[in-house]
Amino acid sequence: MISLNELTKTYGRGADSVTVLDRLNFEVGAGEIFAVTGPSGAGKSTLAQCINLLERPTSGSVVVNGEDLSSLPEKRLRAARRRIGTVFQSASLLSRRTASENIALPLEYLGVTPGEIRARVGELIDRVGLGPKAHSYPFQLSGGQAQRVGIARALALRPAILLADEATSGLDPDTTSSVVELLKQLRTDLDLTVVFITHEMDTVRQIADSVARLERGRIVETGALVDLLTDHGSPLGRALQPRLR
Ligand code: ATP
Ligand code: MG
Repeated sequence: MISLNELTKTYGRGADSVTVLDRLNFEVGAGEIFAVTGPSGAGKSTLAQCINLLERPTSGSVVVNGEDLSSLPEKRLRAARRRIGTVFQSASLLSRRTASENIALPLEYLGVTPGEIRARVGELIDRVGLGPKAHSYPFQLSGGQAQRVGIARALALRPAILLADEATSGLDPDTTSSVVELLKQLRTDLDLTVVFITHEMDTVRQIADSVARLERGRIVETGALVDLLTDHGSPLGRALQPRLR
């Protein structure tokens, strides 16, 4: 579904250049929840931006469903972007719009008819369990509720891929678990492929089918969660073990 081939991202030029992603290779299968973890500054958000095409890779490629996104001409990028929904750490909702109006935004940009927007937004609000809050403004929502609105908005254009960059960071453990359960449900119901970026190992353990650990722009370990958890020689597997509290 998603395949990265020698993906490299360098900022700046010459002596001042920094390579933030260094020849990354991995595959995310259709319907999989693939977690990317690693310390601050490792390049996780840069990776997300190369996948959702907000940044162009310096070299290498990002292939989605057989199509090489990195070499698409500008005007086909927009259509390709629609297939990828993104959720960020702060849901970044517009404060003067209600939950429903925020979810409607991408549909309005696309010129979808008001009737169709109403139907689609109603369906999304129900899917994320926010029916009673449809007409609330962001300041009237809890962190978890705001994140649900962000998720619904990311799904408005019916993407095949959902990219979540620290979408649960900053939420308390119970709220995180409920957002994780929601994402798993959506993955099943909507046939989504999910790339879930987080530095929280507890969350990785709850959500991931497969995991990659990024350090200084390189993948230092990757594998299926079940394999990592039972591999006692694996540093990532050890880091993923539940801690006694
Ligand atoms: P965090 O966990 O703190 O969110 P991250 O893993 O998401 O970190 P990135 O935001 O991808 O890390 O940043 C990786 C590195 O790339 C950092 O050293 C950062 O300073 C650098 N970087 C990011 N964007 C740019 C840019 N536009 N120009 C130059 N350097 C950049
Ligand atoms: Mg980041």
